[in-house]
Amino acid sequence: MLLNISIDSSRNPFSDKIILSQNVVRKFIDDGVEFTTSRPIFLRLTAFENSKNGPVKLCSISVSVREFALEDSESVVIPWYLAFKMNILDKITHNKIFMDYALDNSIPDGSHISLEPLGWISWNNLQQNSQKYVNNHVVDEPFTEKFIRDDFFLKSFLEARLNNALSSITNGDYILMSTNCNGELSEKLYKFKVEGLSPGSTVSVVNTDLDLEIVRAIKYPPSTTEMNASSSERFINEQIRKNVEISIGDVISVIPAEQNTVFSLVDGSNLELRIVENDIHESGQIFFGSNNSVDFDCYSLSSNSAPSTVLRLQTNIDSRLDLPKGEVSFVVKFDKVSLAQLLKFTVHEKTSKIITNSSDHKLCSNCENWIPNTTYDLHELRCSRNVKTCIECSKKFINVGSVPTEHWHCSRQHSLMFGDTVHSQERHQRFYHEPQDCNLCQSHFQSFELMARHKHNDCPFKEHVCRFCHLSLLREKPTVESRYFGLSGHELACGMKTTECYKCGKIVKRMELDLHLDIHNAEKIDKAQRLQLALCKNINCCRTLGEVWNAQSLCDICYGQFYSTQDDSDGSQFLRKLERKYVIQLSRGCGSTFCKNLNCKSSGLSRLSTMPEIMNHVHKSLMTAPIFQFWICVDEATTKKKLVADMYAELKSGKYEIEWIHYGVNQIPVVTIDALDHWLEENAIATPPK
Ligand SMILES: [Zn+2]
Ligand SMILES: [Zn+2]
Ligand SMILES: [Zn+2]
Ligand SMILES: [Zn+2]
Ligand SMILES: [Zn+2]
Ligand SMILES: [Zn+2]
Ligand SMILES: [Zn+2]
Ligand SMILES: [Zn+2]
Repeated sequence: MLLNISIDSSRNPFSDKIILSQNVVRKFIDDGVEFTTSRPIFLRLTAFENSKNGPVKLCSISVSVREFALEDSESVVIPWYLAFKMNILDKITHNKIFMDYALDNSIPDGSHISLEPLGWISWNNLQQNSQKYVNNHVVDEPFTEKFIRDDFFLKSFLEARLNNALSSITNGDYILMSTNCNGELSEKLYKFKVEGLSPGSTVSVVNTDLDLEIVRAIKYPPSTTEMNASSSERFINEQIRKNVEISIGDVISVIPAEQNTVFSLVDGSNLELRIVENDIHESGQIFFGSNNSVDFDCYSLSSNSAPSTVLRLQTNIDSRLDLPKGEVSFVVKFDKVSLAQLLKFTVHEKTSKIITNSSDHKLCSNCENWIPNTTYDLHELRCSRNVKTCIECSKKFINVGSVPTEHWHCSRQHSLMFGDTVHSQERHQRFYHEPQDCNLCQSHFQSFELMARHKHNDCPFKEHVCRFCHLSLLREKPTVESRYFGLSGHELACGMKTTECYKCGKIVKRMELDLHLDIHNAEKIDKAQRLQLALCKNINCCRTLGEVWNAQSLCDICYGQFYSTQDDSDGSQFLRKLERKYVIQLSRGCGSTFCKNLNCKSSGLSRLSTMPEIMNHVHKSLMTAPIFQFWICVDEATTKKKLVADMYAELKSGKYEIEWIHYGVNQIPVVTIDALDHWLEENAIATPPK
């Protein structure tokens, strides 16, 4: 029973390690508990509250023991974080709590952890209003997109701190982490959510080989209570929207049941969308925008402005639209006119019509196809009978008989548009010639089209995803300045706020962070370019040459054993020493069990046994001038590095020059493929793709 509970909020407040009395450890030993140094002692700590009707159990939590140092056996020191997580900070200060503990041997070593980075909280705010941050996603400032995407930085950050602060992690928990490397108190705290664990719901993170995964959730507004009912409803709708990324050349058929699909293209530059099948009313229409918020009443471009130029029987087969530059999202919406509705479209590169003078083909003026000269007359005759062309809009009607009587034109306040049914004319009227109010900000517009563009581009009450904080929130009133930068009202305000560069700690405006990070990248390239990298000519070695190159192009270490203070300008001394070295390697071996040298007896890879064989091999193959390669034994660390470097080069074939891989493998403290990859990512210049 622990009655005297004190909270550590100054030394290691974010740890899960408690301090108990010396008597506790004696009791454990008396009970036959065995301690090992590699594994912490895990306890299940349970908090009770004293009430009128006796003690009430509040909650229990996994902890480990930092030390057994207290005098009083009923005392415990618990880190602030534990009390915060158990939500008993207040109660402890009012002396309403007591605790009990039991040994917990059920916690397995963790093998995998998924963490979602949320953002940071100031220690000051956390103490002032800790309730606000318990068991939720609330942070003072979300992490920047760049930070979250920087896997290397995040992982090394976490690896350095996880072990220091925590002994165990529980699935679904929120973790607060000091920015100090030793886990001690810092003013800024990073908050993460544990999204997944194996092999259990609580695992040990001490002395385990953890596979750490960073998950990035799609963000929604900070708190649902800040939205009114209608907007949260719409949110649910957006969540069930399906996203489909399309590529050039895809032919896609859409039916009314799929109106919730948002199609997207990475870049619409120089692309054209063609509707190759639509009904006679053109009742399927496409609405384009620059982001996921696109809808039939919120868009920057619609296919209404590009009526089909060919009707074949009852089907419109040719509408063409130039897509806007940059990211394009679009939806297909149908007017309810018939049951069997379908819209088929494709995206391809813009083709300017090439009018070539062809000697053996002729252009048919009816169908605009190139027809071989030999069959042209026959084709023309048939074609002119089947194809009728409207003289006003040039729309072609194939196998329709005559131009439909309901065929209409309109060029009032816009370029010429046309269609073939009363229904399509009514829709045109609705989109272009009837005033419409914005349902969000109540502004008045001359037409639905203008309102929809306003909603997509300007409406201050429309939600958008801010490019700086990446939250979906209201766009807010634009200003002259925000328009100048092409930002929404919110984005300008948000972008002017400062943030700390996660690479150098410098305070920069969010809107300037990209530019600032470019500087880091330029610095990296500059530094990398100044490195003159060349491989050591010893094929067992994986070092690069030092600043002073020797005549043999061996690295400093490999060359060291041949170095002499005497003058050796003709290299004869070097050759004598090399010969002796080879003979010893091949006859006696270097004596190392790890040796992988083909020309060393110890590696077991050399089959030469007699001295004449060895001498012959040394002179005929190893030392024939000019010598381009050496087979000198290296130490164990170098052998291991070489192995990792070779594996990496094979795995990521062509990503980096072998010189960079060898240089990198010597720069990392722990030699693994992952660490090497991270290092190269951060420091090396990748080989440009051929
Ligand atoms: Zn023709
Ligand atoms: Zn016409
Ligand atoms: Zn019109
Ligand atoms: Zn509006
Ligand atoms: Zn923002
Ligand atoms: Zn920086
Ligand atoms: Zn070397
Ligand atoms: Zn050897």
